[in-house]
Amino acid sequence: MTPQPLSRALVRAHVVRFVSTLSLLALVSATATAAPHAEPIAVTSNIRVAPVLAPVFDELVQASATFREQCDRIARASYVRVIVSAVMAQSTISRGSARTTMRRYAAGALIATVEIPVPLTMGEYAEFFGHEFEHILEQIDRVNLEQQTTTGAAQRLADGSFETRRARRVGQAIAIETERPAAGRPASEHAVPPVGTSGALRQDAHVTALKRQ
Ligand SMILES: [Zn+2]
Repeated sequence: MTPQPLSRALVRAHVVRFVSTLSLLALVSATATAAPHAEPIAVTSNIRVAPVLAPVFDELVQASATFREQCDRIARASYVRVIVSAVMAQSTISRGSARTTMRRYAAGALIATVEIPVPLTMGEYAEFFGHEFEHILEQIDRVNLEQQTTTGAAQRLADGSFETRRARRVGQAIAIETERPAAGRPASEHAVPPVGTSGALRQDAHVTALKRQ
């Protein structure tokens, strides 16, 4: 008899999946120049990101206090591991999807795998990173998404998926902070690349699927 794969055997509680889709009204053409599938590198004690996204991560940490707080909270949750990989944006019309899959293990570990489309503008990266990391914090906080649909804090979409006001709000706040860095930060340091199209962003699909394993 073939032994069960280790990963399946370890997953005891549930898997949570999140999908966010960005669509742009404006036509934007771009070509990714870095290999999206390169091995992730450690950027904090428990967050690893694809090399192509490491400079983006550093930029967001410098630009946004809210993003720094998210990372600090994730760092304090030592049972959490976050792996951020880059996926090619699908087309010039739809900029692709950010996906977060979370596995909660019986021993307590929470492994979050985040896929971020590339390339995006800094404002778009800020919103995606902030939005998806907030979903990780929702899991750290043990938010009951089903229950939140009764208050309107979470919404169940036609396909059975969920979206939360909290993740939307925080993602947008981090995008704004990134575009308008806080006063007092030296202007010459870590200049944020121009962001021209984030106002046209529409984050229109979000899937949260709970699966018992
Ligand atoms: Zn979301």
